[in-house]
Amino acid sequence: MLTNYSLVFQESNRQKSIVAAIKHAESLCMAENQNFTALRRLVFEIIWENSVPLGAYEVKGILSRKTNKSVDPPTVYRAIEFLMGLGLVTKISSLNAFIGCPFPSSTRSNFFMICNECKRVAEVSSSEIDNEIKSIAGKLSFASERQQIEIFGTCISCKTDK
Ligand SMILES: [Zn+2]
Repeated sequence: MLTNYSLVFQESNRQKSIVAAIKHAESLCMAENQNFTALRRLVFEIIWENSVPLGAYEVKGILSRKTNKSVDPPTVYRAIEFLMGLGLVTKISSLNAFIGCPFPSSTRSNFFMICNECKRVAEVSSSEIDNEIKSIAGKLSFASERQQIEIFGTCISCKTDK
């Protein structure tokens, strides 16, 4: 059973989720005694506004256009790392790109479905998959720390376009 799933594939819901995500990021930073600086906020918005995962250099490019000044890559990386540390942004390892994380406070399975056509990503959370992985790791006496499953295919809108 899928316990939770993101609506990244649906644009209208994504707009709504950006507002909620910013509010969530603000309160999370406050609770963690961290500063949600203007730069961190901009990087967060850029990643969330895009329906496809963005590489750090793409984030840097958009950031430079938005602020009208050149930003150095380490600054962008630090902001992305900060957001990842709070669970607000997730890295899609096989693409080396970043997306907004729709369930920042949940202990999630990081189970991604990535469309090969439109590059959009849906994040799905399944307690059954989590439990299965824990059980397999347990049998192998493997101390798993985190898992990230990336599945490539075709989303429903790209499939019906054909
Ligand atoms: Zn698609």
